[in-house]
Amino acid sequence: MARPRKKSDPDRWPVPCGRCGEHHQIVANWPDGGVCRYCYQQAKRTRGTCDCGHEGILPGRIDGHPSCRRCSGVKLNIDCKTCGAEDELYRGSRCWSCELAVLVDQLLSNPDTGVTAAELVPVAAALKSMKRSNSGVTWIRQRHVSAFLKDLAVAPTITHEKLDELPGPDRTRNYIRGLLVEHGALPRRDELVVRYDQWATGALERVSSDEHRDVARRYIRWHLQRRMNQMDTVPQGTFLRSKQNTTVAIEFLNWLHDHGITLTELRQEHLDAWLADGPSTRRFVDRFIPWATKCRLVDPELTIAPHRRGTSPKLSKSEQDAAVERVVHTDELPVRDRAAAILVLVFGQHIEDVIRLTWDDVTVIDDVVTVRLGKTEFALPSPLDEPMRQLAAAPGNDLTASHPNSNWVFRGHSPGSHIQGSSLRSRLKEVFSTRAARLGTLHELTKLGPVPIIADALGYHPSTIERHAIGSASVYAQYVAAVRQA
Ligand SMILES: [Zn+2]
Ligand SMILES: [Zn+2]
Ligand SMILES: [Zn+2]
Repeated sequence: MARPRKKSDPDRWPVPCGRCGEHHQIVANWPDGGVCRYCYQQAKRTRGTCDCGHEGILPGRIDGHPSCRRCSGVKLNIDCKTCGAEDELYRGSRCWSCELAVLVDQLLSNPDTGVTAAELVPVAAALKSMKRSNSGVTWIRQRHVSAFLKDLAVAPTITHEKLDELPGPDRTRNYIRGLLVEHGALPRRDELVVRYDQWATGALERVSSDEHRDVARRYIRWHLQRRMNQMDTVPQGTFLRSKQNTTVAIEFLNWLHDHGITLTELRQEHLDAWLADGPSTRRFVDRFIPWATKCRLVDPELTIAPHRRGTSPKLSKSEQDAAVERVVHTDELPVRDRAAAILVLVFGQHIEDVIRLTWDDVTVIDDVVTVRLGKTEFALPSPLDEPMRQLAAAPGNDLTASHPNSNWVFRGHSPGSHIQGSSLRSRLKEVFSTRAARLGTLHELTKLGPVPIIADALGYHPSTIERHAIGSASVYAQYVAAVRQA
């Protein structure tokens, strides 16, 4: 699926499409006239019941009504060679759902025996019945997914531990694990507790001294893990915060070690120096210090000064939420401004960069909308993608002659130019201050956890800081999207 339609081009294609009336390349001559590639594509996907009673794909047109091939005389290969159903075909022979079924069987059967393990049978069935089989095919054909399923197919017994050992990205592993649990092939377990335990084991290796490692281990075991074990289900926020608290505690212990200070020697000025000397996330040591005090490891008089607010005004969390709500779910602003507002509000982008976006930077496909801003690229999860989709379908301001070939996403009123930052800013002011919103967003992102932790939680292996930042923006976007949909 594609970018927004190309412009109607009467010079290049003088004969208009018989269906949409626009000038595009005619790819088929059907009984109702020449059909452009967009209408052809749409025809292959039109489903319903024909006046003759036939149910299936209705590619033809009779008096403007969709009709079946037999009634309309349209010739089109839409018969799946495997199941016989009428459907869009993959490589001209199988429907997407048969293609998916073939792939699943290939991957999940043991190559030595040709048999799929009994516990995998329901999983195979679940994978085959994915709602959007074409997305399913795309997903499963990714090398890491195929490899993971192949490994699973030859695993002697399937257990949580076995899944943990299989190589592959966590996202794939967790998705498959979810299916196995859903279909009774594995018992349910609290994934976040397990993930934290595994992560913490690795984190302990970063402690510089044995003595401090012992302290960190006790903090993890008797404070963080114990708290998680007391919960019925551990929320994502607790998981991320526990990782953050662990990281900060370890950094603090390592700093003490580097400065030759033991915990019993720790004094207020050391603590103040450490806090003043690094990122604001260091204040999360305020979880470790009270625990260490209770355990009589440090001077009970130590205090942590309350976090000082920055000087630039920024939106508070609730103002931020209210603004997102208005932008995502109301028509108060025109669709173009809503699309721009989301990039500022949720992704913390600068207005001046947003207005310069072109359609080369935005990709709208079936189920994903991605936006590239500078070197960063991110996906807009639903429902944050809605305004951008609407904009792609009808970019606006192009019905006039002002934008004959404009590629700007945010087209302005004057010919060939994008909208002005100042006027967008003042229109958005009705809902929020763009600067305060951007700062508020960045602030929320840092609260979700140190960037490396967020990236790690998502299974990213970023090579640059910049990509870390995208990771956290995506988490925030998914979080916002989840909250908005709830
Ligand atoms: Zn057409
Ligand atoms: Zn018919
Ligand atoms: Zn089929």
